[in-house]
Amino acid sequence: MTIKVLTMKEDILGANDAKAKANQERLDNLRILTINVMSSPGAGKTSLITNTIRKMPSAARIAVIEGDVASSIDAERVQQLGVPVVQINTAGGCHLDARMMAEAMDNLPMEKIDLLFIENVGNLICPAEFALGEHKRVIILSIPEGDDKPYKYPLMFTEADVILVNKSDLQPYTDFNVDAFHKAVKGINPKAQIFHISCKTGDGFDDWLKWLRAEMKAKKGKS
Ligand code: MG
Ligand code: ZN
Repeated sequence: MTIKVLTMKEDILGANDAKAKANQERLDNLRILTINVMSSPGAGKTSLITNTIRKMPSAARIAVIEGDVASSIDAERVQQLGVPVVQINTAGGCHLDARMMAEAMDNLPMEKIDLLFIENVGNLICPAEFALGEHKRVIILSIPEGDDKPYKYPLMFTEADVILVNKSDLQPYTDFNVDAFHKAVKGINPKAQIFHISCKTGDGFDDWLKWLRAEMKAKKGKS
């Protein structure tokens, strides 16, 4: 099956919030827990999503919206797992916006989804400024990027519900200071949950999946 690729230029920021709100209402009506996954390029967004799909029960109804400047490489990785996926190419744009999100939803079997992952464009800056209608924001930081990123990209870390510290298997080979990182996050966002994971070894996925299942359950239970 060929992958649906939508190419769209970015919308203006002012109109975004209203559209994001409409998107969220649509997702709420269908009780689809929607997670906006953000990180710098190469931190492990696609690996997180594909590994999570593999570890969820096969009955879990998951779909993915893939955002990239160009290509459908990541969408192909997701499609191999047999879940519905739409690729958005931003034609050079460095983030997804709510209009793109609405169009992507129009191209997914929305009645048959319980969990929707959005893989945002790899960038720690402006994706945080554009709400898409998501319920939760998950930030991935990989160990080689360093423990000082919360200071350098405060908005991204302030708005995170979950921070996944990926590539934990590389920790012995770097100067990443876990205590300093947790302290930095606590200073700007004390409510954020931090899980240390490795998409390569599977380490730490139990806590992440436990959080995810609890959120899905809460979303289903709401009328
Ligand atoms: Mg990716
Ligand atoms: Zn941008």
